[in-house]
Amino acid sequence: MFIGHFAVGLGAKSLTPKVSLGTLFLSVQLVDLMWPTLLLLGVEHVKIAPGITAVTPLDFVHYPVTHSLLMVLVWGSLFGLVYWSIKKDTRTAIILGSLVLSHWLLDLIVHRPDLPLYPGGDARLGFGLWNSWAGTIITESLLFVAGLYYYLKTTKAKDRIGTYAFWGLAAFMAVTYVANLMGPPPPDETTIAWAGHTQWLLVIWAYWLDRHREAV
Ligand SMILES: [Zn+2]
Repeated sequence: MFIGHFAVGLGAKSLTPKVSLGTLFLSVQLVDLMWPTLLLLGVEHVKIAPGITAVTPLDFVHYPVTHSLLMVLVWGSLFGLVYWSIKKDTRTAIILGSLVLSHWLLDLIVHRPDLPLYPGGDARLGFGLWNSWAGTIITESLLFVAGLYYYLKTTKAKDRIGTYAFWGLAAFMAVTYVANLMGPPPPDETTIAWAGHTQWLLVIWAYWLDRHREAV
């Protein structure tokens, strides 16, 4: 899942209109933002296995630090705690922590049984929606449209950047999603890791555009 996580971040704006979309993206995508760094460090591993699912050729062989349920709960708690220590806003801190956890729950729906419960554990979970090309695209597209709808309903542009940067981001994410679906499998783990770091661009983009919009 790629666009679906960002969709949850967009939609969450309606729960927490004062929180920047950048922070919301950071929370929903936190573990996937850490994952490419841990790949480069050799802590986690992914293999390329074309045909392993209908949608992605990636075989997530080892990612307990970013994608075990226990560790996602830890990262979510830490994220909420850091936010709370800065803003002293308990409700928002709990929402942000839950958004970190939402990543694992969405991954649970789409992944093959490859998500560990805790580091070192043998059990692997995943309902495997990625085995269905149509099912995945319909689900993620609906999530994305709903996310855009709730973000637009909650905010309005303060200036032209607020309009163009928003639609630019939406178009960029849609094009990236389609390119990933249609493109050839990546050549190796290092390429995946470096490409994964470009997601930070979306976080920065979201912080920038959100400053040009206001809650209605
Ligand atoms: Zn993930």
